[in-house]
Amino acid sequence: QFPFGRRLPCDIYWHGVSFHDNDIFSGQVNKFPGMTEMVRKITLSRAVRTMQDLFPLEYNFYPRSWILPEEFPLFVDEVRMMKDSDPSWKPTFIVKPDGGCQGDGIYLIKDPSDIRLTGSIQSRPAVVQEYICKPLLVDKLKFDIRLYVLLKSLEPLEIYIAKDGLSRFCTEPYQEPTLKNLHQVFMHLTNYSLNIHSGNFIHSDNVNTGSKRTFSSILCRLSSRGADVKKLWSDIISLVIKTIIALTPELKVYYQSDIPAGKPGPTCFQILGFDILLMNNLKPMLLEVNANPSMRIEHEQELSPGVFENVPSPVDEEVKVAVIRDTLRLVDPQKKKIKDVHNCIMFHRDSLLRTVSAFCIMWGMKDKQHKHHSLKLSLKLKFYLKLGSCQTLEEASEAKEEAREAGAGDGGERGGSRSPEAGLPSLCLKQVFPKYARQFSYLRLVDRVAALFIRFLGVKGTTKLGPTGFRTFIRNCKLSNSNFSMASVDILYIDITRRWNSMGIDHKESGMCLQAFVEAFFCLAQKKYKSLPLHKQVASLIDFCEYHLAALDEKRLVCGRG
Ligand code: ADP
Repeated sequence: QFPFGRRLPCDIYWHGVSFHDNDIFSGQVNKFPGMTEMVRKITLSRAVRTMQDLFPLEYNFYPRSWILPEEFPLFVDEVRMMKDSDPSWKPTFIVKPDGGCQGDGIYLIKDPSDIRLTGSIQSRPAVVQEYICKPLLVDKLKFDIRLYVLLKSLEPLEIYIAKDGLSRFCTEPYQEPTLKNLHQVFMHLTNYSLNIHSGNFIHSDNVNTGSKRTFSSILCRLSSRGADVKKLWSDIISLVIKTIIALTPELKVYYQSDIPAGKPGPTCFQILGFDILLMNNLKPMLLEVNANPSMRIEHEQELSPGVFENVPSPVDEEVKVAVIRDTLRLVDPQKKKIKDVHNCIMFHRDSLLRTVSAFCIMWGMKDKQHKHHSLKLSLKLKFYLKLGSCQTLEEASEAKEEAREAGAGDGGERGGSRSPEAGLPSLCLKQVFPKYARQFSYLRLVDRVAALFIRFLGVKGTTKLGPTGFRTFIRNCKLSNSNFSMASVDILYIDITRRWNSMGIDHKESGMCLQAFVEAFFCLAQKKYKSLPLHKQVASLIDFCEYHLAALDEKRLVCGRG
């Protein structure tokens, strides 16, 4: 708790909604600056779209989306073109207001002309998205999955996924959308907050039944039907890592603005709620990411008309308590201290062994006893050695188990130095990054573009690049030549910046935002490396810029020394 008037800093700050406190100079905060903005429907769709432009196949887990109002004409044109090329295509679309939650303001349409343009669209930006018509059904009902993901660190990137999640069910049997059933929210929308008002909603104490179940119970059902559950998990892990890779570039811009490098500040971590829909072929599709997922473990029950009582919800409790407990275990500041002690013991293990032998001799222990103590101690030291080299808590648990089996007694936890991990269940959070980094690192191109952007931002605390910063970027990276004059550079800057700022995203600062810079960067890459596919053009330009900047840094270093 942080009682009013407390002066001492805390190890962990647990903010309710978003990162909001600029007076924290140490410790860890459970929110990243800018995360709430990043996962809004429009921003998320934009970030994913940038990745879809670069890697269309890798990012086909997010439904095709258009941003309203500005892309309304594009939406109309593209749908018409697709219908012309495939007359049998009878799509449905879902319109979701930006920043909405709990199904608020969502509706389904069959044709672009059905969008409610009058009044609301100008005042309320939205995303219109292809509706997934063939979801996987269980008990004839549509359901979605809420998975908890811990973003433990942004730099270096560290991601954990909870091994279990929640499945939230609709309360009317599903039918593919028709003009007649489009409005039936209990059939099409899986939101708990909506379905709870249906007479068919079933509160259950059993995690395998009812309108809210554990995801593991669904996996059991699928597995008994012969589904490849391992493949499903690996597709979900891939979806989560790719989505976070899409979010990290802009998050880094927010981070350096709120917590500038080199100044005292906290580090951040955050639990995110991923909403995922399974298609009937078991392909997971991302619906949205929640920056502030509900951690309630109770639900309201109406005892008599108008009289409500909070009662425990075993399904929520089973999943959410484990997520919070293990998040705290992973970010535990004590863990670092314990690890330092282990490292110290490793360092001094030889001298320790000698000292203990000397004591045994001094105290006149019989040879047998002496040997037994030395053996036990050496086993214990071996255990510490192994524990000290463990990268994850999962590995540490395994090392402890081995030590116990080898006869190192309590695994080094007896007495006052009992580990806080002792007696806790195994971790429900599974590390997926950097564990699978090798498989996904090639996708992190925009991250490298963001690093260039941040380098040229100049003034600390800003999120937008001024015209001088952009010119310096072009000059330092040697991108201007006889075909691309500095006058053209200025025109490019003005054109792109004006367009992005007219979309009315953030009027607080003037200048070029990261997405505008990314667009300009893609333009430059296309100009310079004409015949390659876009991701190769962009990768080549990044290499080119990084090479020139490294050369420049070296030159400056030499000059500085001189
Ligand atoms: P909110 O933040 O308001 O909950 P969501 O994007 O999660 O908005 O959408 C609400 C619900 O609508 C989802 O839980 C899901 O059941 C349904 N839904 C959303 N997008 C799609 C889609 N593209 N295809 C099918 N169903 C969808």
